[in-house]
Parts: sequence; structure tokens; C-alpha cells
Amino acid sequence: MEDYLVRIIAKDAGVRAIACITTDLVNEMATRNETSETATAVIGEAITGGALLGSLLKIKHRVAAKFDGDGPVGKVVVESDAYGKVRGYLENSAVNTLRDEAPIDPYGVQEALGEGVLHVSRDMRLPELVQSYTPLKQGVTDTLDYYLNQSEQVKSLIQVGTVLGEDGLVVAAGGILLQNLGDSKANTLALLQERLAEMPPIEEQLHNGTMPENILENLFAGIEYIYLEERPIRFVCTCSRERVEKAIIVSGEEEIRFLIADGGATVDCHFCHEQYEFDVDDLEEILEELLGEDDEDED
Ligand SMILES: [Zn+2]
Repeated sequence: MEDYLVRIIAKDAGVRAIACITTDLVNEMATRNETSETATAVIGEAITGGALLGSLLKIKHRVAAKFDGDGPVGKVVVESDAYGKVRGYLENSAVNTLRDEAPIDPYGVQEALGEGVLHVSRDMRLPELVQSYTPLKQGVTDTLDYYLNQSEQVKSLIQVGTVLGEDGLVVAAGGILLQNLGDSKANTLALLQERLAEMPPIEEQLHNGTMPENILENLFAGIEYIYLEERPIRFVCTCSRERVEKAIIVSGEEEIRFLIADGGATVDCHFCHEQYEFDVDDLEEILEELLGEDDEDED
């Protein structure tokens, strides 16, 4: 089954809502990165959050969220566009902070992330990226919730989660995002929050076969809303040989000379693990290009 998100809007109630299922995506991430159970839960929650943040974007905009904590998982990066295309990676895919006895956070996501900051960078096709830094809270859900409410200053509610099976892959993953419409004075969000708290967590509902559209339907019972769209969510990497070349140029003359002396370079894309090979001839060409550009600058 394909992953997707659904978007609805309740105009009179002044709320928009997005719910998604990301089970296949999370398992693809787990397989690509050969993640431990903890790492699967961390990247699963983060990439689901990324997909939800992406759903708030206007077309051609992009968002990147970096969970930069001092915990054993290291940095966790997710990126999304407005079309449901997401990618992500984590530094330590072997991290294990499982806490079987703990009913809250059994996969040890909070401990794996540690303390630090969430750095969100939005490319809104302006001359500068729109950047924000908020503290890491208790796990991915709380961190993203704090970011949306504090940094974006829009009353929001987000919940992401995964259910792991015995083989270490997820049997369900997904999330929900509720947000007040700009000028809303209605207090529907508080009501929805209460209803959500009474329901099983989103990932449990998905695991039980309740699909995103049904979760929203149950949540919005008695509230008038319009069904806006259903959109697929999938892993797409934006890397290319050209982009890797640009990155090598940016690394500077000294680094390139070092790579040439080393007999070539293999660049591994953090996100999709595509390997880009550069032999000495390739690197010399890149160096020429770099030095050529420097000459132009001096004119
Ligand atoms: Zn890639």
C-alpha cells in the first residue's frame, strides 16, 4: 500500500488538519540506513514530522529540519517539499536506547536525541532562507509541537509515531497535524485536542487499520469540513553528480589537491547512499574550474 496524506479544512471551525500514513517510507528509510530499532523509531518519527511540515508549504517551497542533540543518535536531518517528496538521514543508525519497561517512549527516542536544538530552515524562494532554532523537547512530537507553536506562532498540534514489529521494521507509522487558520477565534483546536487525547495514539489507530481519512472523520465528528486532497508521500533524493561537484568546489583548493594526491574520491550521499566516483582527471577538471572562477573574481 502506498503512503499518503490527506488534508481537510474546517473553515467555520477555523482549523486545518493533515493526517498521514508513512509505514512504507519508514521501512524504506530503515532498510537504506540499516537502522536499529531505536534508530528506526527516531528516523520514522522525524521523517513523518518532515512530511507533515512539508504539507504546510506552498508549491516550490522546501523545508529542512535538523534535530541536533547530544544523544547517541547524533544529528537527524529530514527534508520535504510541498509535493510529498521527503528524504532524511541520521548519524548513528546503530543507536540502542530501548527501554522496554517504560510505557512512554519504549523505543528510547528522547534519550537517543538527547538535549540540543531543532534547526528548521525553510526555503520560501526569498533571497534568504527562513531559519529558526528551538530547543529539543521530549521526543520528536513534543519538539515539533513546540516549534510550530513558538516559532511559527500558529496554534498547532502535532503527533507522530511508529509501531515496531518483531523483525525491527515498523508495522505502522504516521502522524497528524492540526492548525488554527490565521484569523480563527474559534476554540475548536482545544476540543480536538481533548478528542485526540481520548483516542489511541495515531500509530496505534493506523496499526488497527483505521486509515488517515477515517481518523480525521472520527476526530471531526459533528464539525463541518471540506476534504481537500489526498497526496502520495515518498522518498525522493535530490542529489546528482552536478550537485556533488558543486560541493567539492565549495570545499576549496586545498581539499581538492588532497583528494587528487589521494588518487580520487568517492562521495556517498548521506540521504540515499548513492556513490559518486571522481577520479584524478575529474578532480583536476574541478580544480581548474575553481581556479578559473577565482581569476574572474580578481578582475
Ligand atoms: Zn542522494
